[in-house]
Amino acid sequence: MSGAGVPLRPEVRDLDGYHSPQVEVEVRLNTNESPLPPPEEWLAELRDGIGRIEFNRYPDRRAGALRAALADFHGVDASRVFCANGSNEVLQCLLVAYGGASRAAAVFEPTYALHRHIASLTGTRVASGWRGPDHRLDLAEVDRVLAEADPVVTFVCSPNNPTGGAETAATVSHLLGRAPGLVVVDEAYGQFAPWSALELAAAGGSGAERLVVVRTFSKTWSMAACRLGYLVADPEVVAACDTVALPYHLDAMTQLAGCLALRHVGAMEQRVALLTEERGRLAAGLGAMPVESWPSDANFILFRPVRRSARAVWERLLASSVLVRDCSTWPGLDECLRVTVGTPEENDRFLAALAAALEEER
Ligand code: PMP
Repeated sequence: MSGAGVPLRPEVRDLDGYHSPQVEVEVRLNTNESPLPPPEEWLAELRDGIGRIEFNRYPDRRAGALRAALADFHGVDASRVFCANGSNEVLQCLLVAYGGASRAAAVFEPTYALHRHIASLTGTRVASGWRGPDHRLDLAEVDRVLAEADPVVTFVCSPNNPTGGAETAATVSHLLGRAPGLVVVDEAYGQFAPWSALELAAAGGSGAERLVVVRTFSKTWSMAACRLGYLVADPEVVAACDTVALPYHLDAMTQLAGCLALRHVGAMEQRVALLTEERGRLAAGLGAMPVESWPSDANFILFRPVRRSARAVWERLLASSVLVRDCSTWPGLDECLRVTVGTPEENDRFLAALAAALEEER
Protein backbone atom coordinates (compact mmCIF):
# COMPACT_ATOMS: atom_id res chain seq x y z
CA MET A 1 0.00 0.00 0.00
CA SER A 2 1.30 3.46 -0.83
CA GLY A 3 0.35 6.86 0.59
CA ALA A 4 0.76 8.38 4.01
CA GLY A 5 -2.86 7.66 4.95
CA VAL A 6 -3.18 11.03 6.69
CA PRO A 7 -6.53 12.70 5.99
CA LEU A 8 -6.41 15.94 4.04
CA ARG A 9 -8.17 19.09 5.18
CA PRO A 10 -11.81 18.75 4.12
CA GLU A 11 -11.52 21.91 1.93
CA VAL A 12 -8.72 20.30 -0.06
CA ARG A 13 -9.94 16.68 -0.24
CA ASP A 14 -12.36 17.16 -3.12
CA LEU A 15 -10.29 19.59 -5.18
CA ASP A 16 -8.46 18.80 -8.37
CA GLY A 17 -5.34 20.85 -9.03
CA TYR A 18 -5.63 23.43 -11.79
CA HIS A 19 -3.61 22.30 -14.77
CA SER A 20 -3.46 22.95 -18.46
CA PRO A 21 -1.93 19.98 -20.29
CA GLN A 22 1.67 20.74 -21.26
CA VAL A 23 2.12 18.73 -24.45
CA GLU A 24 5.03 19.11 -26.84
CA VAL A 25 3.56 20.77 -29.93
CA GLU A 26 4.71 23.13 -32.65
CA VAL A 27 1.89 25.66 -32.14
CA ARG A 28 1.04 26.29 -28.48
CA LEU A 29 -2.15 28.31 -28.17
CA ASN A 30 -3.60 26.97 -24.92
CA THR A 31 -2.48 29.14 -21.99
CA ASN A 32 -2.89 32.75 -23.16
CA GLU A 33 0.82 33.50 -22.93
CA SER A 34 2.40 36.04 -25.24
CA PRO A 35 3.79 34.34 -28.33
CA LEU A 36 6.46 37.06 -28.50
CA PRO A 37 9.55 37.32 -26.29
CA PRO A 38 10.34 40.44 -24.26
CA PRO A 39 12.76 42.91 -25.93
CA GLU A 40 16.45 42.03 -26.35
CA GLU A 41 17.38 45.19 -24.43
CA TRP A 42 15.36 44.00 -21.44
CA LEU A 43 17.20 40.68 -21.49
CA ALA A 44 20.58 42.41 -21.70
CA GLU A 45 19.69 44.71 -18.79
CA LEU A 46 18.46 41.72 -16.78
CA ARG A 47 21.66 39.73 -17.38
CA ASP A 48 23.66 42.73 -16.30
CA GLY A 49 21.49 43.40 -13.25
CA ILE A 50 21.58 39.77 -12.09
CA GLY A 51 25.36 40.06 -11.97
CA ARG A 52 24.98 42.74 -9.34
CA ILE A 53 22.48 40.96 -7.06
CA GLU A 54 23.88 40.02 -3.65
CA PHE A 55 22.74 36.40 -3.74
CA ASN A 56 23.82 35.70 -0.16
CA ARG A 57 21.30 38.30 1.07
CA TYR A 58 17.51 38.10 1.24
CA PRO A 59 15.71 40.26 -1.31
CA ASP A 60 14.01 43.55 -0.42
CA ARG A 61 11.07 42.25 1.53
CA ARG A 62 8.78 45.07 0.44
CA ALA A 63 9.93 45.05 -3.18
CA GLY A 64 10.18 48.81 -2.72
CA ALA A 65 11.78 49.71 -6.08
CA LEU A 66 9.27 47.59 -7.98
CA ARG A 67 6.30 49.04 -6.11
CA ALA A 68 7.60 52.53 -6.76
CA ALA A 69 8.07 51.79 -10.48
CA LEU A 70 4.55 50.32 -10.74
CA ALA A 71 3.09 53.24 -8.80
CA ASP A 72 4.81 55.59 -11.23
CA PHE A 73 3.51 53.59 -14.21
CA HIS A 74 -0.08 53.84 -12.95
CA GLY A 75 0.17 57.33 -11.48
CA VAL A 76 -0.76 56.19 -7.95
CA ASP A 77 0.96 56.31 -4.58
CA ALA A 78 3.29 53.36 -3.84
CA SER A 79 1.21 52.59 -0.72
CA ARG A 80 -1.51 51.40 -3.13
CA VAL A 81 0.62 48.66 -4.77
CA PHE A 82 1.28 45.07 -3.66
CA CYS A 83 3.36 42.60 -5.72
CA ALA A 84 3.58 38.81 -5.58
CA ASN A 85 4.55 35.67 -7.48
CA GLY A 86 2.08 35.94 -10.32
CA SER A 87 -1.39 37.36 -9.96
CA ASN A 88 -2.48 33.97 -8.63
CA GLU A 89 -0.44 34.64 -5.48
CA VAL A 90 -1.98 38.12 -5.28
CA LEU A 91 -5.43 36.49 -5.35
CA GLN A 92 -4.32 33.97 -2.73
CA CYS A 93 -3.08 36.74 -0.42
CA LEU A 94 -6.41 38.55 -0.77
CA LEU A 95 -8.33 35.42 0.17
CA VAL A 96 -6.01 34.48 3.04
CA ALA A 97 -6.50 38.01 4.37
CA TYR A 98 -10.22 38.43 3.79
CA GLY A 99 -11.70 34.94 3.17
CA GLY A 100 -11.85 31.89 5.42
CA ALA A 101 -14.42 30.07 7.48
CA SER A 102 -17.93 31.56 7.58
CA ARG A 103 -17.09 34.05 4.80
CA ALA A 104 -18.11 33.96 1.16
CA ALA A 105 -16.55 34.94 -2.18
CA ALA A 106 -18.81 35.55 -5.17
CA VAL A 107 -17.94 34.39 -8.69
CA PHE A 108 -19.95 34.53 -11.92
CA GLU A 109 -19.57 31.51 -14.17
CA PRO A 110 -18.20 30.79 -16.62
CA THR A 111 -15.05 32.54 -15.41
CA TYR A 112 -11.43 32.02 -14.40
CA ALA A 113 -11.41 28.77 -12.43
CA LEU A 114 -8.72 29.89 -9.99
CA HIS A 115 -11.04 32.38 -8.28
CA ARG A 116 -13.21 29.49 -7.13
CA HIS A 117 -10.23 27.20 -6.57
CA ILE A 118 -8.26 29.60 -4.33
CA ALA A 119 -11.42 30.52 -2.42
CA SER A 120 -12.00 26.81 -1.72
CA LEU A 121 -8.35 26.27 -0.72
CA THR A 122 -8.64 29.03 1.84
CA GLY A 123 -11.86 27.59 3.27
CA THR A 124 -13.93 30.44 1.84
CA ARG A 125 -17.47 29.54 0.77
CA VAL A 126 -18.03 30.11 -2.94
CA ALA A 127 -21.31 31.76 -3.90
CA SER A 128 -21.78 31.51 -7.64
CA GLY A 129 -24.10 33.05 -10.15
CA TRP A 130 -24.33 32.75 -13.92
CA ARG A 131 -23.36 35.27 -16.56
CA GLY A 132 -25.93 36.25 -19.16
CA PRO A 133 -26.24 34.47 -22.53
CA ASP A 134 -23.65 36.86 -24.06
CA HIS A 135 -21.30 35.90 -21.18
CA ARG A 136 -21.41 39.44 -19.70
CA LEU A 137 -22.48 40.01 -16.10
CA ASP A 138 -26.24 40.00 -15.69
CA LEU A 139 -26.94 42.70 -13.08
CA ALA A 140 -30.13 41.08 -11.77
CA GLU A 141 -28.18 37.86 -11.15
CA VAL A 142 -25.34 39.87 -9.58
CA ASP A 143 -27.80 41.52 -7.18
CA ARG A 144 -29.35 38.15 -6.31
CA VAL A 145 -25.98 36.57 -5.43
CA LEU A 146 -24.80 39.63 -3.48
CA ALA A 147 -28.02 39.77 -1.47
CA GLU A 148 -28.00 36.04 -0.72
CA ALA A 149 -24.31 35.54 0.03
CA ASP A 150 -23.13 38.86 1.50
CA PRO A 151 -19.67 38.13 0.03
CA VAL A 152 -16.53 39.60 1.56
CA VAL A 153 -14.93 39.39 -1.90
CA THR A 154 -16.69 39.64 -5.28
CA PHE A 155 -14.60 38.55 -8.26
CA VAL A 156 -15.03 40.09 -11.68
CA CYS A 157 -12.73 38.95 -14.42
CA SER A 158 -12.50 41.65 -17.08
CA PRO A 159 -11.80 40.76 -19.84
CA ASN A 160 -13.25 37.48 -18.69
CA ASN A 161 -11.25 34.31 -19.08
CA PRO A 162 -12.28 32.16 -20.97
CA THR A 163 -15.14 34.02 -22.65
CA GLY A 164 -13.11 37.13 -23.65
CA GLY A 165 -15.45 40.09 -23.08
CA ALA A 166 -14.63 43.05 -20.82
CA GLU A 167 -17.28 44.42 -18.46
CA THR A 168 -18.28 48.07 -18.81
CA ALA A 169 -17.46 50.84 -16.33
CA ALA A 170 -21.19 51.01 -15.56
CA THR A 171 -21.21 47.33 -14.55
CA VAL A 172 -18.18 47.67 -12.28
CA SER A 173 -19.69 50.83 -10.74
CA HIS A 174 -22.90 48.91 -10.14
CA LEU A 175 -20.91 46.23 -8.30
CA LEU A 176 -19.12 48.83 -6.21
CA GLY A 177 -22.50 50.23 -5.26
CA ARG A 178 -24.01 46.87 -4.31
CA ALA A 179 -21.20 44.56 -3.15
CA PRO A 180 -20.71 44.68 0.61
CA GLY A 181 -17.00 43.81 0.49
CA LEU A 182 -14.05 44.05 -1.87
CA VAL A 183 -14.69 44.08 -5.61
CA VAL A 184 -11.68 42.37 -7.15
CA VAL A 185 -11.38 43.11 -10.86
CA ASP A 186 -8.95 40.62 -12.35
CA GLU A 187 -7.40 42.42 -15.32
CA ALA A 188 -4.87 39.79 -16.34
CA TYR A 189 -5.70 40.80 -19.94
CA GLY A 190 -6.35 44.45 -19.12
CA GLN A 191 -4.11 46.03 -21.77
CA PHE A 192 -6.03 44.29 -24.55
CA ALA A 193 -9.31 45.88 -23.42
CA PRO A 194 -10.74 49.30 -24.31
CA TRP A 195 -10.83 50.52 -20.69
CA SER A 196 -9.53 49.63 -17.21
CA ALA A 197 -11.12 49.65 -13.78
CA LEU A 198 -8.03 51.62 -12.74
CA GLU A 199 -9.88 54.59 -14.26
CA LEU A 200 -12.63 54.12 -11.64
CA ALA A 201 -10.01 53.87 -8.90
CA ALA A 202 -8.46 57.13 -10.12
CA ALA A 203 -11.85 58.86 -10.30
CA GLY A 204 -12.42 57.89 -6.65
CA GLY A 205 -16.20 57.62 -6.90
CA SER A 206 -18.52 55.82 -4.50
CA GLY A 207 -17.09 52.52 -3.28
CA ALA A 208 -13.69 53.14 -4.95
CA GLU A 209 -11.93 52.34 -1.67
CA ARG A 210 -13.22 48.74 -1.98
CA LEU A 211 -12.00 48.35 -5.58
CA VAL A 212 -9.01 46.06 -6.10
CA VAL A 213 -7.48 45.81 -9.57
CA VAL A 214 -5.23 42.80 -10.15
CA ARG A 215 -2.74 42.61 -13.02
CA THR A 216 0.01 40.32 -14.22
CA PHE A 217 3.29 40.41 -16.13
CA SER A 218 2.49 36.97 -17.61
CA LYS A 219 0.57 38.09 -20.69
CA THR A 220 1.12 41.54 -22.18
CA TRP A 221 4.60 41.86 -20.65
CA SER A 222 5.70 38.49 -22.13
CA MET A 223 7.08 37.38 -18.75
CA ALA A 224 5.08 34.29 -17.75
CA ALA A 225 8.32 32.53 -16.76
CA CYS A 226 9.06 35.21 -14.13
CA ARG A 227 5.90 34.84 -12.03
CA LEU A 228 5.01 38.43 -11.25
CA GLY A 229 1.62 39.97 -10.54
CA TYR A 230 0.37 42.93 -8.52
CA LEU A 231 -2.67 44.76 -7.30
CA VAL A 232 -3.63 48.41 -7.05
CA ALA A 233 -5.96 49.09 -4.14
CA ASP A 234 -6.59 51.06 -0.99
CA PRO A 235 -3.48 51.14 1.30
CA GLU A 236 -5.47 49.18 3.90
CA VAL A 237 -5.87 46.27 1.44
CA VAL A 238 -2.16 46.46 0.59
CA ALA A 239 -1.29 46.34 4.30
CA ALA A 240 -3.54 43.28 4.73
CA CYS A 241 -1.75 41.49 1.88
CA ASP A 242 1.63 42.43 3.35
CA THR A 243 0.54 40.88 6.64
CA VAL A 244 -0.29 37.49 5.13
CA ALA A 245 2.45 37.20 2.46
CA LEU A 246 5.35 34.99 3.45
CA PRO A 247 8.56 36.84 4.31
CA TYR A 248 10.74 37.48 1.23
CA HIS A 249 8.20 35.77 -1.02
CA LEU A 250 9.24 37.76 -4.11
CA ASP A 251 12.80 36.95 -5.14
CA ALA A 252 15.36 39.56 -6.18
CA MET A 253 15.52 38.42 -9.83
CA THR A 254 11.78 38.76 -10.29
CA GLN A 255 11.75 42.19 -8.66
CA LEU A 256 14.54 43.29 -10.97
CA ALA A 257 12.85 41.79 -14.04
CA GLY A 258 9.67 43.72 -13.27
CA CYS A 259 11.48 47.03 -12.71
CA LEU A 260 13.35 46.64 -15.99
CA ALA A 261 10.21 45.67 -17.93
CA LEU A 262 8.64 48.99 -16.96
CA ARG A 263 11.41 50.74 -18.91
CA HIS A 264 10.05 49.13 -22.09
CA VAL A 265 6.42 50.20 -22.07
CA GLY A 266 6.55 51.19 -25.76
CA ALA A 267 7.65 47.70 -26.80
CA MET A 268 4.86 46.16 -24.70
CA GLU A 269 2.32 48.43 -26.36
CA GLN A 270 3.62 47.43 -29.79
CA ARG A 271 3.20 43.74 -28.95
CA VAL A 272 -0.33 44.41 -27.71
CA ALA A 273 -1.14 46.28 -30.93
CA LEU A 274 0.14 43.42 -33.08
CA LEU A 275 -1.78 40.81 -31.09
CA THR A 276 -4.95 42.91 -31.15
CA GLU A 277 -4.68 43.10 -34.93
CA GLU A 278 -4.10 39.35 -35.11
CA ARG A 279 -7.12 38.82 -32.85
CA GLY A 280 -9.21 40.58 -35.50
CA ARG A 281 -7.81 38.31 -38.19
CA LEU A 282 -8.47 35.19 -36.10
CA ALA A 283 -12.02 36.37 -35.38
CA ALA A 284 -12.64 36.95 -39.08
CA GLY A 285 -11.22 33.50 -39.90
CA LEU A 286 -13.45 31.86 -37.30
CA GLY A 287 -16.41 33.87 -38.61
CA ALA A 288 -16.04 32.19 -42.00
CA MET A 289 -16.16 28.65 -40.51
CA PRO A 290 -18.96 26.57 -39.03
CA VAL A 291 -18.22 27.69 -35.46
CA GLU A 292 -19.97 29.99 -33.03
CA SER A 293 -17.49 32.47 -31.52
CA TRP A 294 -17.68 35.31 -29.01
CA PRO A 295 -16.23 38.83 -29.34
CA SER A 296 -12.99 39.17 -27.41
CA ASP A 297 -11.29 42.07 -25.63
CA ALA A 298 -8.39 39.79 -24.66
CA ASN A 299 -5.65 37.76 -26.39
CA PHE A 300 -7.82 34.67 -26.88
CA ILE A 301 -11.13 33.74 -28.47
CA LEU A 302 -13.75 31.29 -27.25
CA PHE A 303 -15.49 29.28 -29.96
CA ARG A 304 -17.83 26.34 -30.35
CA PRO A 305 -17.78 24.08 -33.39
CA VAL A 306 -21.31 23.76 -34.76
CA ARG A 307 -22.68 20.20 -34.69
CA ARG A 308 -19.25 18.73 -34.02
CA SER A 309 -17.70 17.38 -30.87
CA ALA A 310 -15.29 19.89 -29.34
CA ARG A 311 -13.14 17.05 -28.01
CA ALA A 312 -12.86 15.46 -31.46
CA VAL A 313 -11.90 18.83 -32.99
CA TRP A 314 -9.36 19.40 -30.17
CA GLU A 315 -7.81 16.00 -30.89
CA ARG A 316 -7.61 16.67 -34.62
CA LEU A 317 -5.93 20.01 -33.95
CA LEU A 318 -3.46 18.24 -31.66
CA ALA A 319 -2.73 15.72 -34.41
CA SER A 320 -1.73 18.77 -36.52
CA SER A 321 0.55 19.86 -33.64
CA VAL A 322 -1.76 22.76 -32.68
CA LEU A 323 -2.73 22.89 -28.99
CA VAL A 324 -5.78 24.90 -27.89
CA ARG A 325 -7.68 24.77 -24.59
CA ASP A 326 -10.52 22.31 -24.28
CA CYS A 327 -13.10 24.12 -22.11
CA SER A 328 -15.93 21.75 -22.95
CA THR A 329 -16.21 20.33 -19.44
CA TRP A 330 -16.14 23.74 -17.70
CA PRO A 331 -19.35 25.15 -16.21
CA GLY A 332 -21.61 26.64 -18.89
CA LEU A 333 -19.15 25.99 -21.73
CA ASP A 334 -20.46 22.83 -23.42
CA GLU A 335 -18.54 22.02 -26.59
CA CYS A 336 -16.36 25.14 -26.31
CA LEU A 337 -12.67 25.55 -27.15
CA ARG A 338 -10.43 28.54 -26.52
CA VAL A 339 -7.60 29.65 -28.76
CA THR A 340 -4.86 32.06 -27.70
CA VAL A 341 -3.80 34.65 -30.26
CA GLY A 342 -0.36 33.61 -31.51
CA THR A 343 2.10 35.01 -34.03
CA PRO A 344 0.74 35.57 -37.56
CA GLU A 345 2.33 32.25 -38.64
CA GLU A 346 0.87 30.36 -35.68
CA ASN A 347 -2.57 31.83 -36.33
CA ASP A 348 -2.36 30.74 -39.98
CA ARG A 349 -1.41 27.23 -38.85
CA PHE A 350 -4.36 27.19 -36.43
CA LEU A 351 -6.89 28.44 -38.98
CA ALA A 352 -5.76 25.92 -41.59
CA ALA A 353 -5.75 23.05 -39.07
CA LEU A 354 -9.18 24.05 -37.77
CA ALA A 355 -10.66 24.23 -41.27
CA ALA A 356 -9.31 20.73 -41.97
CA ALA A 357 -10.54 19.39 -38.60
CA LEU A 358 -14.04 20.75 -39.13
CA GLU A 359 -14.13 19.27 -42.63
CA GLU A 360 -13.08 15.84 -41.34
CA GLU A 361 -15.53 15.94 -38.45
CA ARG A 362 -18.50 16.74 -40.68
N1 PMP B 1 -6.14 35.85 -13.80
C1 PMP B 1 -6.58 35.40 -14.98
C2 PMP B 1 -7.92 35.85 -15.47
C3 PMP B 1 -5.81 34.54 -15.75
O1 PMP B 1 -6.27 34.08 -16.91
C4 PMP B 1 -4.54 34.14 -15.27
C5 PMP B 1 -3.64 33.23 -16.03
N2 PMP B 1 -4.20 32.19 -16.67
C6 PMP B 1 -4.14 34.62 -14.03
C7 PMP B 1 -4.96 35.49 -13.32
C8 PMP B 1 -2.87 34.20 -13.40
O2 PMP B 1 -1.79 34.75 -13.96
P1 PMP B 1 -0.35 34.72 -13.28
O3 PMP B 1 -0.44 33.95 -11.99
O4 PMP B 1 0.51 34.07 -14.28
O5 PMP B 1 -0.03 36.15 -13.05
